[in-house]
Amino acid sequence: MSEELSDRTAIITGASSGIGNAIAAELAADGANVAITSRAKARAQEAAADLETTSGRAIGVQADVTDPDSVTGMVEATIAEFGRLDIMVNNAGINIRGPAEEFDPGDWQEVIDVNLSGVFYGSKAAGRQMIVQGDGGHIVNVSSIMGEVGLHERAAYSASKGGVNNLTRTLAVEWAEHDIHVNAIAPGYIRTEMTEDALSDVGFTDENVRNRTPLGRWGTPREVATSVRFLVRGGHFVTGEILHADGGWLAFAWGSRGG
Ligand code: NAD
Repeated sequence: MSEELSDRTAIITGASSGIGNAIAAELAADGANVAITSRAKARAQEAAADLETTSGRAIGVQADVTDPDSVTGMVEATIAEFGRLDIMVNNAGINIRGPAEEFDPGDWQEVIDVNLSGVFYGSKAAGRQMIVQGDGGHIVNVSSIMGEVGLHERAAYSASKGGVNNLTRTLAVEWAEHDIHVNAIAPGYIRTEMTEDALSDVGFTDENVRNRTPLGRWGTPREVATSVRFLVRGGHFVTGEILHADGGWLAFAWGSRGG
């Protein structure tokens, strides 16, 4: 592995598990200093200790992305340790599913708080720091294919991810003058705790996913992480973009093969 990210510092929210953890591992293996954040301090610290870094170091920081003060504290703790911030990955997310006509307002609010407001608070805190530093940066928001299309029983989740997509475009435009690139990564079906839970629901099977995805399989957290690595390494002209890491799921006109 190269060390192209040495001397750069990254924060990844919700990184004690799943896709976030794979992103942290990918950036650390490329030499970045990495702050792994989680709501539970012990989990963040364990995940940081487990990470194999090359030239960089890893720390665990407690942060709840729904709390703006907690998010500001997360950036401050990272700066105290590493002195600067170059890469922010807003990964933390939840999914609560249910029929729209019965959906609980508290569940709606929780999904919006974590998936959309959390991305805004993380971007705002990181953007402020990057503007002060004066030499650009990269923000990557973890969206979903469900931010682009409608699926049954996912009103809050799909709305939150659609919001993330347009927040990404807006921040990209607003902070372009500071050379801060803001992009989103929109995974398709990736095997993690989040999708293991969904698999137990009626109407969502492993076979559905394989048939519906042109590459014929689930993606891996590492495959999402390598796409994030591309975005944060720089040397490209990409900002305000939604990169779909979905095995062709969105490109596929379902039924066009007679399936
Ligand atoms: P995951 O459940 O393993 O990871 C989500 C992480 O977010 C967990 O570590 C959780 O503790 C953390 N989190 C939740 N609420 C938080 C809060 N208030 N503050 C801080 N952290 C919080 O699931 P995952 O699949 O790795 O999901 C990561 C991201 O990828 C999410 O944004 C999810 O919507 C997105 N995504 C996942 C898939 C998939 O198929 N797995 C597909 C598309 C998008």
